[in-house]
Amino acid sequence: MIIQKFGGTSVEDAAALERVAAIVARAAGEAPLVVVSAMGDTTDRLVEALAAAARGEQEAARRTLARLEDDTLATVREFFGRGGDAVASLVKPEFSELGRMADAVAVLRSVPAAGRDHFLAQGERISAAVVSEALRARGLPAEHLDAREVMATDDHFGRARPDVPRICRLIGERLRSGGAAPAIRVTEGFIGRAPGGQTTTLGRGGSDYSAALLAAALEASAVEIWTDVSGMMTADPRVVPQARVIPAISFEEASELAYFGARVLHPLTLAPAVEKGIPVRIRNSREPEEPGTEVRTSAPPGPSRVRSIAFKKGIATVDMHTSRMLMEAGFLKTLFEVFARHETPVDMVSTSEVSVSVTVDDVSRLSDIRRDLEALAEVEMGQDRAIVCLVGQDLKFAPGLAARIFRAVEQINILMISQGASRRNVSFVVEEKDVEEAVRALHREFFERNPPLSF
Ligand code: ASP
Ligand code: MG
Repeated sequence: MIIQKFGGTSVEDAAALERVAAIVARAAGEAPLVVVSAMGDTTDRLVEALAAAARGEQEAARRTLARLEDDTLATVREFFGRGGDAVASLVKPEFSELGRMADAVAVLRSVPAAGRDHFLAQGERISAAVVSEALRARGLPAEHLDAREVMATDDHFGRARPDVPRICRLIGERLRSGGAAPAIRVTEGFIGRAPGGQTTTLGRGGSDYSAALLAAALEASAVEIWTDVSGMMTADPRVVPQARVIPAISFEEASELAYFGARVLHPLTLAPAVEKGIPVRIRNSREPEEPGTEVRTSAPPGPSRVRSIAFKKGIATVDMHTSRMLMEAGFLKTLFEVFARHETPVDMVSTSEVSVSVTVDDVSRLSDIRRDLEALAEVEMGQDRAIVCLVGQDLKFAPGLAARIFRAVEQINILMISQGASRRNVSFVVEEKDVEEAVRALHREFFERNPPLSF
């Protein structure tokens, strides 16, 4: 059996639903379990409606919900044609419930955490109902499975944690009890149920996590994450037009890229599947013929060992100098405590005997941080910087790699360097204005030479 997860853009309108039906039909022999996100930007619009309601703006909340309902019903009418009325009558009560909840929130001017999860979960509820009907309308034996019957979580609303042993038991029971039931089940990503029976959510973007958890529980043969890009790429194609899709990547490499490339997916959410050795394939629902990227426990290195070149702008660097460090054990801890106190994660670190440099990407507390650090060290801060990061398996052990990297960017001023302790990344900091040039130069060096050089 396989898991096929469709993200918001893959179910956003009638044409998208048509593509989903064709993709699922091709996998029908593998008894797919279809996991869906809310349609298009539904979740964002629900968040907006709820925020308006919580400010007491009942009319604004109602308007946002009415527009969402109109758009959803327009998709239903377009896809189902004459069968649309029956499907609309499944969807409308869900919107009525949203309206009633928004009214209550507007009166209370506050949203209980459990209420927020219940409200946001409606997006996936509606999507799963529409998608299962869409599959049936195209002749597939599909049935809606309420994810809350199987996705047992704790009651940490907004970011509920799964109860994996219970999920295994529940999904096993639920699928076995089906008897001569349909071969294709459609369920909601993102949502679950707390021990007390309330609806929970796993956190924004959580439907990949749902898919991975269900795959692990069912020991599925593969997970397909259907989205609107053809996979993870050797570089951002908006910066490097020659960038290519990466055919296979290890889970660890993908995790390194997550910090930079969260646009595609957050690999940590795939961990439950990957840990069980279940391959995860990122596929493009608009280009279903393309093979996409496979994320797996380990992947053989490509010709140049570098798997991908990523970057992140909007970085600040903080340089701290002091001669006290020379003498004192535990001084680094004192410096890092300043960042911790101001809840600012530090990303890259590089030290010498008398100085430490770090990067942060949340610059909102920098002036407080500076004030506290100045009591301890001489401080210099640089803004509008960018991190460039090369990711690949065992980069650290590749002789000649550093020479190739820094020769490729020799025209560019490098402000800080770090070779990840993970062996899987080499990162350096440049001024933001230089970052695109650096990424293009590295991509030429590692991916566009023909034949590629090994080092
Ligand atoms: N619909 C939810 C969100 O937008 C979950 C998901 O798409 O994964 O966050
Ligand atoms: Mg979404």
